[in-house]
Amino acid sequence: MTAIQLHYSHHLHRSTTQPRSRPPPPSPPPRRSHHVIISSAKSQPHCHHHNLSSRTLRAAVIGGGPAGSSAAEALAAGGIETFLIERNPSGSKPCGGAIPLCMLDEFSIPLSLVDRKVTRVNIISPSNLTVDFSKTLGSREFIAMLRREVLDSYLRSRAQSHGAQLISGLFTDLEIPTSSSAPYVVHYNIDGSKRSLHADVVIGADGAHSKVAKAISAGNYDYALAIQERIKLPDEKMRQYENLAEMYVGSDISPDFYGWVFPKCDHVAVGTGTARARGKIRRVYNSGIRERVRERISGGRVIKVEATRFRLTRDRDESGAESH
Ligand SMILES: Cc1cc2nc3c(=O)[nH]c(=O)nc-3n(C[C@H](O)[C@H](O)[C@H](O)COP(=O)(O)OP(=O)(O)OC[C@H]3O[C@@H](n4cnc5c(N)ncnc54)[C@H](O)[C@@H]3O)c2cc1C
Repeated sequence: MTAIQLHYSHHLHRSTTQPRSRPPPPSPPPRRSHHVIISSAKSQPHCHHHNLSSRTLRAAVIGGGPAGSSAAEALAAGGIETFLIERNPSGSKPCGGAIPLCMLDEFSIPLSLVDRKVTRVNIISPSNLTVDFSKTLGSREFIAMLRREVLDSYLRSRAQSHGAQLISGLFTDLEIPTSSSAPYVVHYNIDGSKRSLHADVVIGADGAHSKVAKAISAGNYDYALAIQERIKLPDEKMRQYENLAEMYVGSDISPDFYGWVFPKCDHVAVGTGTARARGKIRRVYNSGIRERVRERISGGRVIKVEATRFRLTRDRDESGAESH
């Protein structure tokens, strides 16, 4: 969860950092204990000019997923005036939500966010042969299963508690500085009303379909589609998944991907993806993973449907070189 594009303004100036129209104040950020004061370009190797003096650097982070929230938290904790723009703070990205154990420590994610500590992970072949992947887990290891809406909202709140200002808005465009005294201008909408703010640093963490990447010509990317249903199972069916995650492979599941059944707090997440049959993702899902696990999830009730694009690799030209 780390795809961040970092773009520094080469040209920073103290007089141009006020938002054109400020967003409605989010819940009051706690007092910062310290500020980073930029007094010399030497302390900021990415800045080419020396005209930042005695003021707080301002950063705009676009996208409040794990990458954006973590970046916003680190920036705000370092005393940088930080705005975190997220278009849908109450939503969630379709994601299996299986977190490797090391992530919990690395990102200080409390165990209370974990729905289930799964120690049985089965990979199931086209002919329904099962490989018990969990044999690779150590005796005290587990796969943490959580819901992305829970994780993302926690990470955003933590960024806010360090002083980042969350803006619930849709980022629309970025003006790149054209002179040594100009800042970035970040355009966004709140409930259809156009706003903008000035920033010295912009971090694009707006996911697979990043508008920030487009604005800085960071290249074209091929993408795949994924779909996931959250399904509440009858108790006796849910018992199968108390401590079990399943991954299914085979051409019946997807021409180029896999399917999964991951247990959550009181339901399972069933999903798949494809890059080759994007227009038929629903059909791939219904005739694939849904069909393969039909018996195991029978009687279940769909409580949520999620679909998303996700990025594959950079487009390549005929010589195989990456385009930028
Ligand atoms: C189907 C699927 C299953 C996956 N399963 C797992 C798994 O089990 N475990 C795992 O570790 N990883 C999994 N991943 C990968 C994981 O989801 C990503 O690595 C992770 O979400 C990337 O985090 P991010 O913060 O970079 O981007 P995202 O999580 O995509 O966050 C981007 C954020 O930007 C916001 N945004 C986008 N555009 C705008 C805009 N214009 N204005 C404002 N906000 C905007 C979005 O609302 C979103 O909140 C899965 C991915 C997919 C597609």
